[in-house]
Amino acid sequence: MNRERLEEQLAELPLYLYDFLDPKELEFSQRIRWICQHECPMYGKTWACPPGVGSVESCREKCLSYGNCLMIATIAEVSDIADIQQTLATRPEHEKITNQVGAAMEALGAKPYILSTEACALCQRCAILAGQPCRHPESMHPCVESHGINIIPTLESRGLEFQYGENVVTWVSLLFYQ
Ligand code: SF4
Repeated sequence: MNRERLEEQLAELPLYLYDFLDPKELEFSQRIRWICQHECPMYGKTWACPPGVGSVESCREKCLSYGNCLMIATIAEVSDIADIQQTLATRPEHEKITNQVGAAMEALGAKPYILSTEACALCQRCAILAGQPCRHPESMHPCVESHGINIIPTLESRGLEFQYGENVVTWVSLLFYQ
């Protein structure tokens, strides 16, 4: 993939940041999986979440099977970050941008494996609840945390805070490619 041409397109998108990294830089942690299991109401409710995505080790192997990773982040301001409805309302825009970046990469010959945000919301009721396979595996993006990835050290290593400021939501996606 021609990185320069991709960067020309990234420059036209409302990204807070983007950066290229070696997947080996990412921190995979069983602690993140524990949080999914014990603190997230979506655990087991979609194929984009654990345990449907597989073990942390298998997720790590998959991510590391790609030699490269593009990290993108967007930010959105809300009047009250504690209001979960307001916060989630900013998510579709990030998903749209993630898909635009994925499409740009595909147009340049890459086949990105995309991790994005939160549980999958493409279907009203996820097929996993009926014991069926995912209906749209080509469009569905597991969330970054579902793979046990602690993204905070990666952001910090670039001098960035996950919490950009009060009442600012930060969304992060990872696009792995060869
Ligand atoms: S696309 Fe549908 S079936 Fe697949 S993970 Fe998302 S909600 Fe579930």
